[in-house]
Amino acid sequence: MSEVRLMTPLTGSEIRASFSRREQRDLKLPNLTAVDWSNLDFLGWRGPGTELAFVVFDWKESLKGITFRYNKGGTSNQRMTMMCSWCKTLQSRDGIQLYTTLKSDGNKSMGDYLCRDLQCSLYVRGIDLPATARMPESISVDKRIERLRENVQTFYDRLASF
Ligand SMILES: [Zn+2]
Repeated sequence: MSEVRLMTPLTGSEIRASFSRREQRDLKLPNLTAVDWSNLDFLGWRGPGTELAFVVFDWKESLKGITFRYNKGGTSNQRMTMMCSWCKTLQSRDGIQLYTTLKSDGNKSMGDYLCRDLQCSLYVRGIDLPATARMPESISVDKRIERLRENVQTFYDRLASF
C-alpha cells in the first residue's frame, strides 16, 4: 500500500513550506480557489510566466514538494502517442511533457514524461479524459489511484537519494 494520501485543502504558506528555501525563491503559487481537493493525489501546476512546474503531495503526513523544469519548445511528432509515467494515461504527444527536476550534477538529471497539465489524479478517476482517448484500462479506478500514488512515491524516493 502506498503511503501517499488523498490531498486535504492547503494554504499558500503550507504549500510554500513543502519546498526547500532555494526552491521557494522560484515558486509561483497556483490559484487555490479553483482547486477541487477531493479528487487529488497530488497538486500539480505550471508556474505562470515560467518554465517551471510544481508538484505537492502528502506522504507520511508530511508535505513534499518537487520543482520541475520543462522546455516550452514545440514537439516533433504530434501524432505520436505517449504514456504518462505516473498515471499511465495514453496521451497525444502534445498532452505529455518531459518534466526534469532541478537537481542535477552536471550531466545527470532526473525526469519523467508526465501529463502536461499534471492532472493525473483526474485522469485515473475518469473525471478528465485525454484528448485522444484509446485503449481503456481494464483495472479498477481504485487500483489506478493506488498505482499513481505508488509512482509518485517512488519518484520522490529516487529523487531524495539522487
Ligand atoms: Zn499522468
